[in-house]
Amino acid sequence: MTKFTISGPYIESAPAANRFELDTCYENPLQEPSTEAVFKAFLENAPRFAVQGFNEKGEVQFCNACAEQLFGIPENEIRGKRLEEPFLPTSSRKEFLKLLKTACESGRHVPLLEWKIEEPDSATRHLLSSIFPIHHPDLEPMAVAISLDITDSKAITGKIQEMGHQIERFAEISGAILSIENDTELFDRIALAVVDISDFNRVLISYFIEEKPFREIIGYKGVNARTIRKVKKIPMPRAKYLEYFDKGIKLGNQSCYIPYNQKNILDQNATISGEMAYPEGEGNWHNEDNLLVAMKDRSGELIGIISVDDSKSGRIPTDETVRPIEIFANLISEIIQKRLLTARIAESEEKYQDLLENIIIGVLRATPEGRIIESNPAAVQMFGYESQDELIKLKFSDLYQKPEDASRFMNEMEERGVLKDRDFGLKRRDKSIFWASVTSTAVRSRAGEIQFYDTVIEDITQRKILQEEIKRLSITDELTGLYNRRYFNENLPEEIKAGERWSGSLSLIMIDIDDFKLFNDSFHHLQGDEVIKETAAVINENIRRTRDWACRFGGDEFALVLPGTGSERAAKVAERIRKAFEKHEFRPKGQPIRKTISLGISECIHSERPRAANISHGSPGLDYEEIATELVRLADQALFKAKATGKNRIEKSAQSIELTRYMRH
Ligand code: GH3
Ligand code: MG
Repeated sequence: MTKFTISGPYIESAPAANRFELDTCYENPLQEPSTEAVFKAFLENAPRFAVQGFNEKGEVQFCNACAEQLFGIPENEIRGKRLEEPFLPTSSRKEFLKLLKTACESGRHVPLLEWKIEEPDSATRHLLSSIFPIHHPDLEPMAVAISLDITDSKAITGKIQEMGHQIERFAEISGAILSIENDTELFDRIALAVVDISDFNRVLISYFIEEKPFREIIGYKGVNARTIRKVKKIPMPRAKYLEYFDKGIKLGNQSCYIPYNQKNILDQNATISGEMAYPEGEGNWHNEDNLLVAMKDRSGELIGIISVDDSKSGRIPTDETVRPIEIFANLISEIIQKRLLTARIAESEEKYQDLLENIIIGVLRATPEGRIIESNPAAVQMFGYESQDELIKLKFSDLYQKPEDASRFMNEMEERGVLKDRDFGLKRRDKSIFWASVTSTAVRSRAGEIQFYDTVIEDITQRKILQEEIKRLSITDELTGLYNRRYFNENLPEEIKAGERWSGSLSLIMIDIDDFKLFNDSFHHLQGDEVIKETAAVINENIRRTRDWACRFGGDEFALVLPGTGSERAAKVAERIRKAFEKHEFRPKGQPIRKTISLGISECIHSERPRAANISHGSPGLDYEEIATELVRLADQALFKAKATGKNRIEKSAQSIELTRYMRH
């Protein structure tokens, strides 16, 4: 039986799918096939390999279908032709012929080679080839070249390298950008960075404002000043962009590509007219194409847009080419939001300072029985009376919202003769209430008898509101309105400590949305945010809000703290939430969708100890932060198990935390 052995470093190490088995190609195994037939079968059974035979002169003797396809020339046209004519670039021809000769003369295969074929009208292709000689009595001496088209895998390697490069550039650029204080400079630098690492030469970063033209251009690159002036005048409200996102071609998580032939959906004026002309045709970027990338805040609102054009590669954008711009879009929205929040806090603090500076202090003098005998104009104004005469007809107790506060005040004054910075609710003439900080001193006679009470009153309602607002902003998750991680970190140790009072248990439930990435990928990121918001609502609706509290732990993960609740009961709460969530319908783009969550529970048990008076203040030997960290770790571990065993499940940690283990000696 004639058998061709093909060997070489590549063939032997090639994956099974690339190998061809000569033994399987006989049409009739009982009959020894002719050499020609073996050859034919050999050629046809090498579907991924382009096979060409050459005689010693370098003329093509045969080729298989794959070679026809790869080189774009049918066998009957190429037969008898020499290599140089159809495909090899001049630089490679000589070398190839030399190799053919070597193979024929030495009788050994030529090791793997990488070739490029360049044809004027099509893209360069990369080949991996091996050449080996064939000596057979029935056949003319010849050399066979086997080639594998590796253009695609080369492109992938190139892409991976390119992405690596982009990531490095991004890290480098972000570091530099984040140290810029001045906003204009910052956003211009970002625009430059987008051009630097994306496929686009022109970029416009805008964010939405209330007044016409409804957006402010905060950074740009590659757009000339005249165009910018023109663009700045065109009103572009948020609603219009939302419509584009609805109608354009969705890319990545938050980008949308609007090809020029869909331009009728765009307001003609909104496109930045291109200066460069691009080749027309499928897959190529057209100079009137548009690519928009959304910037959104944590509550899912579209706050701005990065629009780019003038593609460097001249190709239409893909998920990969938009990725670096999306990363920047997220970075910019983070920066904008952080700055807005800082500005809001600064504004509140400024108001607070104003208040302190323009403070109104009311002063009253009262008899030991509590009758008002003197007041300053500020006190008259503060309590809403017309004149001092009106005010001094009153008793001190008339000014208190709660009569019991008034008697407490009097008792303390009698006992101690002084009271400092105490907050009370006080009542105006029209019965409205305001918060006041009250400081009072007893004025005594020489004999030591109380003659008057002099009282200084400061209206602190505004201060209280502002303080509360500042506090609220700093502990709230903007998207869901739940507590944020900061609050969680500060309060969980406190809760554990407070739990010693009832010597009971505290449970922690960690909740994570199942396959949320999938949802984000199939819908818009903004709709993903909507799911996060609704998840928070479902959790909130299913807990006792007097004692239990939830927080957004981060991303699609939530933490639920149940003070005074053991893991058995916590499991019931968890199941209630799991079920409610499973039933909840989300409606991205109107169609109902259901999602599931997985939950992990951990528990901390306060050991039974005698209720000594000081225990309510927490035992000094316990490190509550350490306990909190451990509690989170156990719940997370349980959550991980719930995910690993099928999701949409509840898993309880096998371990409980016994507080006495954390005693420090
Ligand atoms: P698993 O079932 O294992 O939890 O799978 P998952 O896809 O949910 O994966 P994982 O919880 O690890 O990833 C959460 C994803 O949630 C990652 C990120 O894409 C997305 N995500 C995080 N924060 C936000 C956000 O604020 N808004 C939106 N839309 N998506 C977010
Ligand atoms: Mg998840």
